[in-house]
Amino acid sequence: AELGRQAVAMLAQVRDVVVEHEDELGKLDAIAGDGDHGIGMRRGVDAAAAAGEAASGSSVARILLAAGEAWSERAGGTSGALWGSAVIAAGQALGNRETYSANDARAAVSAFVLAITELGKAEPGDKTMVDALLPFRDAFLTELDGGAPVDRALAAAAAAAELAAAQTAELRPLKGRARPLAEKSLGHPDPGAVSFGLIATRISHHID
Ligand code: ADP
Ligand code: MG
Ligand code: MG
Repeated sequence: AELGRQAVAMLAQVRDVVVEHEDELGKLDAIAGDGDHGIGMRRGVDAAAAAGEAASGSSVARILLAAGEAWSERAGGTSGALWGSAVIAAGQALGNRETYSANDARAAVSAFVLAITELGKAEPGDKTMVDALLPFRDAFLTELDGGAPVDRALAAAAAAAELAAAQTAELRPLKGRARPLAEKSLGHPDPGAVSFGLIATRISHHID
C-alpha cells in the first residue's frame, strides 16, 4: 500500500534524526531528569522502524500499530509509552487509506496529539513535550484552514514546534521525573519537547 510505504520511509527518517541527536538528548535529560531520553528514544525508534519495515505491505494502520507497540515496549520510560500510543492513534486515524487528503492529515495529527494529552495528562506550561505538541497542532490546522497544502502546513508546524520547544527553557517542570529538580532545569529546554521538534522538522523535509 502506498501510504504504508510512506509510513515505513517516515519511520526510517524518525530513526535517523534520533540517532543523530541521541547524545544531545541524553545530556539534556541529565540536567534535571535521569539522563535516559537519548537512549530511550533510540531504542524506541530502532524498534519502531524495524517493526514498521517488517509489516510493510499491510495497511498504514497496521504498520503504525506494529511500530507504536514496538516503540512503547522497547523504549521503556514515559516518552516511549506516549510516543507509542500516539503513533498507534495516528495510524488508526488513517485506517487503510492508500493516499491521504488534507482532512486525513488533520485527523492523524489531531489523534497523535490527543493520545499524548489523554495518556500523560500534562497541561500546557508543565514543561513537557505537550508544550511543543500543542503549538505544532495549532499551526498545522491553522495553515490547512488557510488553504496551505499539507507539506507547507507541516513545515510551518514544525517551525512552531521547534520555537516552542526552545521556549520551554523558561518553564519549571511540573510533570515527570524532572519535577524534583525543577530549579536545575530552568534555562534548559525540556528534552521531550526538543526531540519532538527535531522529529517534526525531519518529517517535514521528507513528506511527499
Ligand atoms: P523518563 O522521564 O521516564 O525517563 P524520558 O526521559 O524518555 O522518560 O522522557 C522524558 C520526557 O517525557 C520529558 O522531557 C517530557 O517531555 C515527557 N513527559 C514526561 N511526563 C509527561 C507527561 N505526563 N505528559 C507528556 N509528556 C511527558
Ligand atoms: Mg528520562
Ligand atoms: Mg527514565
